[in-house]
Amino acid sequence: MYDIAIIGAGIAGSYVARELSRYQLDVVLLDGENDVGNEITMANSAIVHGGFDAPSYKLKGKFNAPGNIMYEKMCRDLCVPYKRTGSLVVAHTEHDMMTLHNLYQNGLKNGVPDLRIMFEDEVHEIEENVSPDICGALYSGTAGLVSPFELCTKVAENAVDNGITLKLNHMVTNIAKKDDGTFKIETTEEDIEARYVVNAGGVYADDIYKMVGDPYFKILARRGVYFIFDKEIGDLVHNVIFPCPTKNGKGILVSPTVHGNLLIGPDAMPVDKGDICTTQDRLDYIKENALKNCPKLAQYMNKIIRSYAGTRNTPVADTYTTTDGDFIIEESPVKGFVNFAGYESPGLTSIPASGYYAVEEVILPMLKKDGIEPKENENFNPKTRPHIYFADLPEEEKKALIAKDPKYGKIICRCETVTEAEIIDVIHRNVGATTVKGVKKRCRPGAGRCQGGFCSPRVVEILARELGCEMDDIMYDAKDKGYILKGRTKEI
Ligand SMILES: Cc1cc2nc3c(=O)[nH]c(=O)nc-3n(C[C@H](O)[C@H](O)[C@H](O)COP(=O)(O)OP(=O)(O)OC[C@H]3O[C@@H](n4cnc5c(N)ncnc54)[C@H](O)[C@@H]3O)c2cc1C
Repeated sequence: MYDIAIIGAGIAGSYVARELSRYQLDVVLLDGENDVGNEITMANSAIVHGGFDAPSYKLKGKFNAPGNIMYEKMCRDLCVPYKRTGSLVVAHTEHDMMTLHNLYQNGLKNGVPDLRIMFEDEVHEIEENVSPDICGALYSGTAGLVSPFELCTKVAENAVDNGITLKLNHMVTNIAKKDDGTFKIETTEEDIEARYVVNAGGVYADDIYKMVGDPYFKILARRGVYFIFDKEIGDLVHNVIFPCPTKNGKGILVSPTVHGNLLIGPDAMPVDKGDICTTQDRLDYIKENALKNCPKLAQYMNKIIRSYAGTRNTPVADTYTTTDGDFIIEESPVKGFVNFAGYESPGLTSIPASGYYAVEEVILPMLKKDGIEPKENENFNPKTRPHIYFADLPEEEKKALIAKDPKYGKIICRCETVTEAEIIDVIHRNVGATTVKGVKKRCRPGAGRCQGGFCSPRVVEILARELGCEMDDIMYDAKDKGYILKGRTKEI
């Protein structure tokens, strides 16, 4: 019997697991996928927002700005790439300028530091490629960029380092509340028993809650499509460039990425859960809107290296007509069952603050009501083992590393300069990679210009060798998303 079972190892569930590992509690983190952070946390804008959009009366407004401030230490502790770039919401009309003033006032209420309105000239001084048609912008100096997949894998790794049990490939199919008040969680692998449950199931959180209680919220899946451009034009803009927001969201942004690419997107289309298709009409829409704020992009459309989509988990009360939801972080009407749901943007940014709140203000008080006051885990260490990014090291350090381990001298991904030693490291860490995509998420082979055209076969070879299995057993991604190899040539 576990003390607490967390369903969902995206950023929400993984961070709650890490926070709970500060205490002497027996916690299991379950996910149906074969890797952590494989759903919403995998595919988003990767922006650490300043925190001026959401109203201060919502949890979104309450956690965004403090979450942003906590990011630097969290990413340092976990050795995750993070850059503070700043962001600009640009205005094209007088009406837009009024919206900026409202956002500015709201930002002040939310406690957002380094926020100011800039006029056209000042904007063009820092961003020469932003449209000449703008009349001003809201600058937010604390906005930044992160690698969400590296963040989630490291958060989960740190939770496991500190004693949490992670069970992947455990899809929850049913939950029963037993007469003694504990829960039996049926999964595709085994039954799990737990005294308390935290539901962090992302876009499926409403379906998971329905297994045990009467529904009181619904999750609407809204797909957002993106393009990634080659690093050659990664510095076309230096800040995250947003249009003025509308009731549908923050609009199509143009942004650098933490690894030096350029990103445009997303739109917001209601879809069926799990639909992450990128369709031509939506891609055209993204391009058209990105050009309004950054017309120079028009000459670089041949530098696109990838498109992808993610689905928002928008909470709605009882109809599909509003997107004015908020994070749901509370003990549900079912005693002992916590929902961490409707956790849409700015969920990534808010997580250090909202994850702390979930544990300190919701879960521990719930345990206390039952007379349980867990002791602190004296061995808790907030830091992961350092991660070596070979390409970023000075020449002398590169030479020293190669002398110690010649596998640092073997470049597997030429686009991103990823060495064999780095790939071996991410396979053997706690919460290590077992798929080609898992390796890509952790250290980037396949994320560059050729998108894995050259390095994927080498990554498959290394995975098979290090995991002690056949190359045909290695998958690109999840089980239902296909194996890469069918067999050996001439043997099929
Ligand atoms: C298009 C888009 C852009 C965004 N941009 C930003 C941004 O720039 N900045 C920002 O701060 N936030 C952004 N967000 C929001 C942020 O990405 C989310 O808040 C966050 O990733 C949600 O994490 P999660 O853990 O709740 O969900 P997920 O990452 O989806 O995790 C849920 C997990 O539950 C698992 N699961 C589901 N059902 C079951 C089951 N039955 N059994 C077992 N496991 C199950 C899934 O496999 C998954 O791993 C964006 C989101 C989207 C979609």
